[in-house]
Amino acid sequence: MKISLRLKTLGDLVEPTFYLADVGSDHALLPLYLFSQEKIQKAQLIENKIGPYKRMEKAVSLSPYHSQCLLTLSDGLSELDKDVSAIVVAGMGGQLISSILKRDEEKLKSIDDLYIDAHSERSELLMSLGELSYSLVDSIFLEDEHKFYDLWHLKRTKNKVLYNEKEALFGPLHLKNKEASWVKYWEAQKKEKETILLNKEVPTFKRSILEKEISMIEEALR
Ligand code: SAM
Repeated sequence: MKISLRLKTLGDLVEPTFYLADVGSDHALLPLYLFSQEKIQKAQLIENKIGPYKRMEKAVSLSPYHSQCLLTLSDGLSELDKDVSAIVVAGMGGQLISSILKRDEEKLKSIDDLYIDAHSERSELLMSLGELSYSLVDSIFLEDEHKFYDLWHLKRTKNKVLYNEKEALFGPLHLKNKEASWVKYWEAQKKEKETILLNKEVPTFKRSILEKEISMIEEALR
């Protein structure tokens, strides 16, 4: 089984759980990796498209874990098994992840842990997850094949969690830990913005937005 560093690292964030659901499982790599690590006993693999569904069905049937898997061709959490207590959503945009979770907010009441790998709109997603009463307990900023990923573990809390603009943009835990890959990413972002500013034709309003963003990055990196 060839698993990417991104998926393996996300899998390594997962705490031992009896029954986990993987929404948008596609090739089924993540749940099969979790079984091989003895981190889960049961998995629901969810796909809403026939091509990826067939792919995950084949991967599961060829694995030693087929009797421990429930496969559903369904949208998001619409057919989530009531006994699932942890959910993974990986490899999608933040807006899509947020809409999948918000649409079935009621079902989240029995979900203690969320594991998320969002490839865009991460600030907005973190704020929505806070609104849904999930708190970020662990996050890993990772460089894999020249791309950067921010992998999250969130736990359900009693109350809503409020993240401010700075925490949502940079990640509340990264702001404290300042991992080398996170520093590398934000230094590159800063450089990109500084390069744009070198162009004298950049209009004043755009210039002031970029200057504000650069100073936010400098403050975060300090
Ligand atoms: N999770 C895997 C990973 O991280 O490598 C696969 C990511 S793949 C880019 C996204 C998958 O999510 C696709 O197979 C797509 O069909 C599925 N997907 C998108 N929206 C979904 C939804 N609402 N419900 C279930 N699956 C969905």
